[in-house]
Amino acid sequence: MKTIAIVGGGSGGVSAANHLAYKLKGEIKEGKVKLLLIEGSTRHYYQPGFLEIVFDLMTPQSTYKNEKRVLADGVTLTQEYASRIDLENRTITTEKQKIPYDYLVIATGASYDYGAVPGLKEGTHNFYSLDSSVDLKSVLNHFKSGKIVVGISSMPYKCTPAPLEAVFLLNDYFARRGIRDKVEIEYMYPMPMAFPDKGISDIALRMFKEKGIKSNLGFQLKTVDNEKHELVDVNGKRSSFDLAIIVPPHRGNKLIDNSGFGDKMGWVPVDPLTLNIKGHENAYAIGDATNLQVSKAGSVADAEAIVVSDRIIQSISGGDSVSVYDGSGGALMITGIGSASMITSSYTQKPVFMPESYSFYWIKLIYNNLYWNMTAKPVLNGVVQ
Ligand SMILES: Cc1cc2nc3c(=O)[nH]c(=O)nc-3n(C[C@H](O)[C@H](O)[C@H](O)COP(=O)(O)OP(=O)(O)OC[C@H]3O[C@@H](n4cnc5c(N)ncnc54)[C@H](O)[C@@H]3O)c2cc1C
Repeated sequence: MKTIAIVGGGSGGVSAANHLAYKLKGEIKEGKVKLLLIEGSTRHYYQPGFLEIVFDLMTPQSTYKNEKRVLADGVTLTQEYASRIDLENRTITTEKQKIPYDYLVIATGASYDYGAVPGLKEGTHNFYSLDSSVDLKSVLNHFKSGKIVVGISSMPYKCTPAPLEAVFLLNDYFARRGIRDKVEIEYMYPMPMAFPDKGISDIALRMFKEKGIKSNLGFQLKTVDNEKHELVDVNGKRSSFDLAIIVPPHRGNKLIDNSGFGDKMGWVPVDPLTLNIKGHENAYAIGDATNLQVSKAGSVADAEAIVVSDRIIQSISGGDSVSVYDGSGGALMITGIGSASMITSSYTQKPVFMPESYSFYWIKLIYNNLYWNMTAKPVLNGVVQ
């Protein structure tokens, strides 16, 4: 019997688990393959919904489901946190047991390092977790005038367009409340551009001009001075705020540090094409957990999940593992209430910004439903493939 262990049951982990369960249905039934998903949380989150909660486009309750409900038949869930992975001896240690594996997929995502910026936790808000979003929604509802800074503390972070979506939604939100002229909106970015790609940055800056949104580029946040209500960058430059909405610093999972194979930020070094952990043909990492220079996005995690699942299936059936990842990913980006674009890219294609439309906006709002039925798809698993 071959054991496939997936550590982390978020977007990428569940996509891989369900794809493997469908493709290896027979082998799992006959006892030739055991498919394990090791996930510590009982909740599976649809994270794009966190921003939508803030603007009443989604309810908090519709951003999550019980982990068990998103898994296809054939996946065995171990509801425990892994504390160490031993790549040499092919074992995973959890709170309660040691689990041997033949194939491994790491999908433990990114974590937030609030401690890296003194004052950040105490003095700022964000929309990068369910609780933070619910809290921000209530703060915004009471906000009547002043300066709001939407900023990114450091690169990389999840869903590169999300902070741009936030400023565009804030613009329309205050216009609808009839107080847009009393609110100053500023977008703060650590790079000298508004987005890592120059073409998309130019489009965003043009839209800022049209909508009266200010920008503060190349601002690398070091501390938050909560007495003076100022953000301070690495060169001592200061920016005042009445409300700061700051994407927290991201880094890899501490499991990766504890296991000794992460880079200095805790990301897992993988081959860009095969997604193999360097030097370990039977072990892969996908999604936000990797060190790849691609967007940390659910679409990327999903595309990578299909590639590693296919490679594992090819290996189990005795052939060569030939499927490779082409770097593709995409995100629907809201540009205001009632309009959105789609940005797509790959290793060989620079990001493309598709013309804004109501259709993209509509798809973004209903994507939650598509997600529960296509990525986290126990019901349609086997039908939509
Ligand atoms: C506000 C916001 C907006 C976004 N918008 C978009 C968008 O529009 N489009 C898009 O494509 N993407 C978007 N994303 C990004 C997307 O949600 C992530 O990129 C995606 O969830 C990554 O999937 P993952 O499987 O790598 O990690 P996650 O989905 O974060 O899953 C990681 C899982 O690992 C588990 N885990 C962690 N440590 C352990 C351990 N030690 N043992 C066991 N389990 C563990 C966690 O509990 C979690 O379930 C957005 C994200 C945010 C926050």
